[in-house]
Amino acid sequence: MAKKNPHLNPETFRDSLATVLDDGKRNWVYPKKVKGFFYKYRTYVSWVLLGILFAGPFIKVDGRPWLLFNIFERKFIIFGAVFWPQDTYLLIFLLLIFFVFVILFTVAFGRVWCGWACPQTLFMEMVFRKIEYLIEGDANQQRALNAQPWNQEKIVKKSIKISVFAFISLLIGHLMMAYLIGIEAVLEIVSSPPTAHMAGFIGLIAFSGIFMFVFTWFREQACLVVCPYGRLQGVMLDNNSINVMYDYVRGEPRAPIRKNAAENVDKGDCVDCSLCVQVCPTGIDIRNGIQMECVNCTACIDACDEVMVKVDRPTGLIRYASENSIKQGFQKLLTGRVKSYIVVLVLLLTVFVSLIATRDDISATITRFPGMTYQEREDGMVTNLYQITLINKTFEPQEVELKSLAEGMNVEIVGAQHLVLDAQSKFEGRFFLVRNQDEVKVNQEKVELALFYKGEKIDEIETNFTAPIK
Ligand code: SF4
Ligand code: SF4
Repeated sequence: MAKKNPHLNPETFRDSLATVLDDGKRNWVYPKKVKGFFYKYRTYVSWVLLGILFAGPFIKVDGRPWLLFNIFERKFIIFGAVFWPQDTYLLIFLLLIFFVFVILFTVAFGRVWCGWACPQTLFMEMVFRKIEYLIEGDANQQRALNAQPWNQEKIVKKSIKISVFAFISLLIGHLMMAYLIGIEAVLEIVSSPPTAHMAGFIGLIAFSGIFMFVFTWFREQACLVVCPYGRLQGVMLDNNSINVMYDYVRGEPRAPIRKNAAENVDKGDCVDCSLCVQVCPTGIDIRNGIQMECVNCTACIDACDEVMVKVDRPTGLIRYASENSIKQGFQKLLTGRVKSYIVVLVLLLTVFVSLIATRDDISATITRFPGMTYQEREDGMVTNLYQITLINKTFEPQEVELKSLAEGMNVEIVGAQHLVLDAQSKFEGRFFLVRNQDEVKVNQEKVELALFYKGEKIDEIETNFTAPIK
């Protein structure tokens, strides 16, 4: 008996997954090739976006990467602006702004991101799927190929496909690593024996393997069961959100066209050809309404428009629309919810810009050297040892000076007289605070240290100085 997909049944679709059959097995989706207005423009957009994505690690601004997400060193470069671990609060703000922007955009325009710009969709539909069509043919040919025994044709086609997929997965794996550790580090890893950079080599292979798994086998499951954005749609969308929608007012009651014109009277525009279902990469029937599985890829719009042209009915039976625009005939974009999100977004942006404008160019962190209290010198001086971390966030080398503001207390930098910081660099060193034992009045003294740049005080740091009272 043929296995049924309960998700295509209007009665049961809300209680089932499109890619799970009624016997619990995976329903492998074979989306039919699509062509049309939206597919054409999505292809153009994908070329631009994939071009930017692959060029990203190579783009340098004043010799530094344009984008870098080095989670290992907690150093991030976003559009040329560098964020150090000390700037975590700025990154949190940036993330908040990103989330509010995503929510605002989703409330107004649904899942446009998923269909047009998400890297998962871009690679799956515009790279891997196209290669699959090229090697194995359209949906029916793929079905037939998978069903046939392992003969020469199947072995050749599958081998070519797996080899090409593996090559592209390797490229994406290397690209991902380049965004994490920089293109120079990736080139260093690939041009050295694996043992020279074992961790980096394992990272490259792991990322490539994950991408191979996702685009060869996991596919739409990434959107359906893994992606948190997709799963949150239900709480973000409302009846005014614009989505890929089936116009049920115009389309129902659906019925195939009959030769006898009288039988077509009182029927909707949907001719129940099921092409919109056949082209869907997530295996759903958009005529059941908005569903979590719909990535707004527009394939069903193109398929349906083609049918409408053939049957001489107006296009747009499936189109970008909101529930309200279909039901009531008008579209409201600036709803109260949208306005509120805009206000929150503007507030967050204002705070972020002012935080960036007042950010220190050089940041300093001072901690006492662990496990040590004080040292007494033969010349009657008492010292405390400290660790100092300086970060030069500017793009120029800087020479700074560390001074104690406490009277009679000196700073002795270990191994260096000057603190010279390269552009965009981190300096880690040690220094002593030195006081004459005769001047010690308390066992533990609060001390203000100041950092000077070109004679101007740029930062003040407080620490403790410990000494014996004699
Ligand atoms: S329902 Fe239409 S827009 Fe949504 S995923 Fe399927 S084909 Fe794409
Ligand atoms: S493609 Fe259009 S006409 Fe055909 S079933 Fe889908 S909605 Fe109806």
